Amino acid sequence: MKVTLLRVDLELTSPGGVAAPETAATEHPQLPIARDPYGRPHIPATSIAGSLRAHAGQAAVELFGTVGEKTLASPVRLIGTAVQDQVVSRARTAVDRHRAAPARNSLRRSQHLAPGTRITVYLRLDEDRLLPELLDLLARWRPGIGGGRSVGFGRARVTGVRGRTVDLGTPDGLRAWLGEGGPGMYGDTATEPIALPETAPETPEVLRSHWEIVDGLHIGGGTRDEDTKRALLVRSGGLPMVPGSTWKGILRSRCEFILGSLDQRVCRSSLVRGAQGEEEAICGSCLICDAFGWAGGNGSGARSRLIFTDSPIEAATVVTRQHVALDRFTGGAAGGLLYAEEVVESGRLTLEIHLDGEVSPVIRGLINLALADIHSGLTGIGGATTRGLGTLRRTDLTPEQAEGERTSATWALLHHVTGDAA
Ligand SMILES: [Zn+2]
Repeated sequence: MKVTLLRVDLELTSPGGVAAPETAATEHPQLPIARDPYGRPHIPATSIAGSLRAHAGQAAVELFGTVGEKTLASPVRLIGTAVQDQVVSRARTAVDRHRAAPARNSLRRSQHLAPGTRITVYLRLDEDRLLPELLDLLARWRPGIGGGRSVGFGRARVTGVRGRTVDLGTPDGLRAWLGEGGPGMYGDTATEPIALPETAPETPEVLRSHWEIVDGLHIGGGTRDEDTKRALLVRSGGLPMVPGSTWKGILRSRCEFILGSLDQRVCRSSLVRGAQGEEEAICGSCLICDAFGWAGGNGSGARSRLIFTDSPIEAATVVTRQHVALDRFTGGAAGGLLYAEEVVESGRLTLEIHLDGEVSPVIRGLINLALADIHSGLTGIGGATTRGLGTLRRTDLTPEQAEGERTSATWALLHHVTGDAA
């Protein structure tokens, strides 16, 4: 019997990680990432296996076996993982569906591994005839690790594969197998680099739109300056940004609103954030759930077909604005209630929605109408929209193009509502 050992090196290209399960269901403000008994960040092998299997398509059963009526053992075994790197933390907010603003007290802070974190995956393959198929899968694999995938978290790429085959039918092979053991069997001296087959990379379709800030934007990360107490902006790599989770929350709630206003069945339940923040306890059967994903109890659910990434703000002018809190009863300035916040007064940003799988014309239409609502100022972005902040304007469409998008979106919706398949 020949056993092939493969070491797959991954690198996170966006923040990622798996939350510790014991804290997952709580309201704890600090969601720590899972750690091993030595305190090191840990990615469960099952999480990697799930992501690999999801990309395997028709080869899934052959490579990973099946459980059920006809149980087949998995020829590919995930032996373990190792993580090298530090932890970063970032706040995420839930969006109130009705106001499309960050819900009160909804701020959650969760820990994540920083982009650039390297993760090593140790695999074992017990049927060497399946090696070409496994390598083909690794070449096509776009690894997704942990939760928050639909808001741009947990994306990774394969940076290298090393491997060796041990023939347990020979004395040398048996000696190596019994004598070495452990991660050392996967080390640089014990393995050879393996070139993955050239495959046309799966390039997902991306809906891109370009925007500029009209009045000002404040999307806080839940942090305040120690000295001045002013509310700071959420940043990525030094640049203020609109997080993918903010885009997703606003567009989902706006799409729900538009579809609901056409008397279509759509879930409008209040938002309940899951452990990793991106999925909600919602109906699971409407058009919106199908496109934006949902999570029910007992692991039921569907992933989002729409992936929203962070939008860094280019050429940003950041100022500090002072506010006087108004007394709710007298309408006058409440004594001493002065507060300050960072605001991006001007800048440019790009919204990218990556499509994962088939997205219907109705959903595309709804998204375009929701974007048009943002453009025309009907829907604001971020906090403080009631104080005249949060207006964005599209810069990549002429009025004629905008009108064209609106018309085709309206037709797509009309066909859906009237059941006309044309
Ligand atoms: Zn629903």
